[in-house]
Order: sequence, then structure tokens, then C-alpha cells
Amino acid sequence: MEKSFSFWEQERFLARFDVLVIGGGLVGLMAAYQTKKQNSALRVGVVEAGFLPTGASTKNAGFACFGSISELTDELEEGSSEAELLAVVELRWRGLQLLRSILGDEIIDYEPLGGFEVFKKAQSDLAQKSLDQIGHFNSLLSDITGSSDIYRPASEKINDWGLGNTDVVIENRLEGQIDTGKMMLALIRRVQEAGVLVFTNCRVEQIEGGSAAQTVYTNQAKFSSRKIIVATNAFSGSLFPELNIIPGRGQVLVTEPIPNLKIRGAFHYDRGYYYFRNVGDRILLGGGRNLDFNEEQTTEFGVTDLVQNELEKLLTEVILPGQKPKIDYRWSGIMAFGDELKPIITEVIPGVYTAVRCNGMGVAMGSQMGKLVAELVVESV
Ligand SMILES: Cc1cc2nc3c(=O)[nH]c(=O)nc-3n(C[C@H](O)[C@H](O)[C@H](O)COP(=O)(O)OP(=O)(O)OC[C@H]3O[C@@H](n4cnc5c(N)ncnc54)[C@H](O)[C@@H]3O)c2cc1C
Repeated sequence: MEKSFSFWEQERFLARFDVLVIGGGLVGLMAAYQTKKQNSALRVGVVEAGFLPTGASTKNAGFACFGSISELTDELEEGSSEAELLAVVELRWRGLQLLRSILGDEIIDYEPLGGFEVFKKAQSDLAQKSLDQIGHFNSLLSDITGSSDIYRPASEKINDWGLGNTDVVIENRLEGQIDTGKMMLALIRRVQEAGVLVFTNCRVEQIEGGSAAQTVYTNQAKFSSRKIIVATNAFSGSLFPELNIIPGRGQVLVTEPIPNLKIRGAFHYDRGYYYFRNVGDRILLGGGRNLDFNEEQTTEFGVTDLVQNELEKLLTEVILPGQKPKIDYRWSGIMAFGDELKPIITEVIPGVYTAVRCNGMGVAMGSQMGKLVAELVVESV
């Protein structure tokens, strides 16, 4: 039976929106905030399927990073042009600056501890090739970052951190880390303060296009909005199967607090397939999708023995050699990849815009994606 709503509910909560955002992750919330900021007269809402945001934005590692040398080199070798690569790095860089300026470093616990790319002993060729590229990338990214001293060799730190099976480290001086939970809490507050209505536990099942307004059918209510922003990232396939989006599950663990933990900063290991950082005195460690790409190409949440065992092996052999700390948390989140590195920010059908496909770097680029899609929509309302 169709739900019936009171006059008050219908007129004050559900009445026609100017802009309705589907998906309440970082990108959707930023898009809503930016829409309101660019035109405060617009009636803006967000509909989120989960009880909490349920994709990647509350489940990520909190790296404020924009590119490590082997990742950037890989992209060029796989056919991206330098201009395409620079455009994506710029999106990440600008996104991070925007995130920090909107929410504030103290509020999101931004710590400029640096990013470190760590090379295994067996990777000496890759390590040397990456060391050789330092000058090139320092100059290539200098216009974007305003610094020509981004990357530097930092292998002398291996002993201070006590890492095992590691030969070479390259530091990215301009990277840092944030507290993901604090970021999302602050963003939700900011969006609501701006006057955006946020509906949770509200899953969009269908969008029906119209010339003046779109009708959005959800499991809770039917909404009408002049414009729609789709920010459902990895889950966009159920609404727009034609979009080139490949889901990828990322698994994570967090240890108990470790006495005298020496590791501080955001680390990329084995060409970025693994990553770890300190969260206070704990280690957060994730990755391992490459152990079974097929199994991890899914929108289903879950952890597997294969990946979790490998993460624990890395913990006891490389990050904390000889130690076997208790694991306090294990979880997964879902990312969106595709044939191209750049996100899909466009009008997909008249009146419906997407800001999706963060390629696993949405903490970095998400705020800028929200801003860009808001500009497109506000221009057209
Ligand atoms: C384990 C892990 C570690 C990561 N680490 C980092 C990192 O360190 N640095 C970095 O830059 N990036 C990182 N990322 C990537 C980053 O978290 C994502 O790119 C970013 O959060 C994507 O934001 P989003 O808003 O586009 O998508 P999401 O956060 O996935 O939000 C999409 C939302 O849409 C909702 N939704 C889906 N379908 C519907 C529907 N039909 N109706 C209504 N709502 C719907 C979902 O519930 C979800 O909340 C990581 C990701 C993972 C999984």
C-alpha cells in the first residue's frame, strides 16, 4: 500500500526540490553543500540509501594523497597522456585543498605527516626507475602544487620506523592524513546548517524523466525535483547500467593500540596495492584487491580470509616485524573504477547529472567533484 503523508510532511519535507542529490557520501554531500552555497535560494535535498552513508566515504583509509611516483608512471605507461594525468592530479590536489578549507584542518584532524611509497627488497628495478623519475615529477607537478620540492628519496627513515623487507622509500612531502569519521560528521553538520534536507534509509529505485521535473521513486516516498545529481559512485550501475563503472571492494583492518608505535604517516606499499598508516597508536592497513580481482569486483560488502590473512602477514613481516598485535576492527568499502582515470561529471540525461567514479581517490578529489557538478547544475536551474 502506498504510504500516505500528512499535509506537514508533504508540504515542508517532501515538497518539490530544485536539486535532489542521490547518495549521501562525500561527493553527494559536497555537491549539495556547493549547490546551496552557489545559490542559497534553491531547495536542496539528499537521499541516502543507508542508515549511515554506506559506500566508501565512512570506510576509507583517510589518506590525503594525490599521487605516488610508481602510480603516476604506471598510468602514463598504460596509455594516459601527460595532460590527462595532470588533470586528474589537479582534481585530487584541488579537492584536498577545498576539503580542508571548508571543514578546517583541526576539525578533520588533518596531519601533514607526509606520504611514503615503500619498495620491497624484490622490487629494486621498480624502485630505481621511480627514484629516477623524482626530478621529472617534481617539475611536472610544480604548477599544480606550487612547489617543485614534492618528492624526495627517504630511505634513511626505514630504520627509524623499523620496517622489514624494505629497501627504498620515496617521500611525498605534501601528503597527509585525516580522520575519516570526523570529516564525514563535520560534513553532514555543515550540509544541514546550510539548509539541505538529508533523508537516510531512503533508496532510490527509479528516476523518471520529465520536461520540467524528474520524479524519483524511493522505498520511502516519491520525490519531485527540477534537477538531479547522481552521486552513487560504485553503485551507479543499478540506476545507469550504461556508465563505465567497475566496482572494487577494499578490505581494511585496524590493530589494537601498539605501545611505542614509531610509524607516523601514510604509506603506499607494493605499487599502491597495499596501504597503511597510524591512527593514533594503532595501525590501519588495507588493500590486497590484486590477490583476487574477480572476487573483489563486487558491490557486496564483506571480508575474506585470503585478503585478511595477507594483510596480517604484511603486518607481522613488514610493518611491525616479529609482532602479532590483536586486530580490533575489520571492514570493507566499495570503490568505483573504470577504463579511464577521470571521473564522470556530466549531464547523463536531460536534467540528471552524475558525479561518480572516484577511482579509489575520492577523499582527495571528492570535494572538487562536488563543486564542479554543482556549477553545472546551478547554471542550468
Ligand atoms: C577501503 C577504502 C579505502 C580508501 N582510502 C582512500 C584514501 O585513503 N584516500 C582517498 O582519497 N580515497 C580513498 N578511498 C576512496 C574514497 O573513499 C571514495 O572514492 C569516496 O569515498 C567516494 O565517495 P562517493 O561519495 O562518490 O561514494 P560513496 O561514499 O560510496 O557514496 C555513495 C553513496 O550512495 C548511496 N547509494 C547507493 N545507491 C543508492 C540509491 N539507489 N539510492 C540512494 N543512495 C544510494 C550509498 O549508500 C553511499 O552512501 C578508499 C575507499 C575504500 C573502500
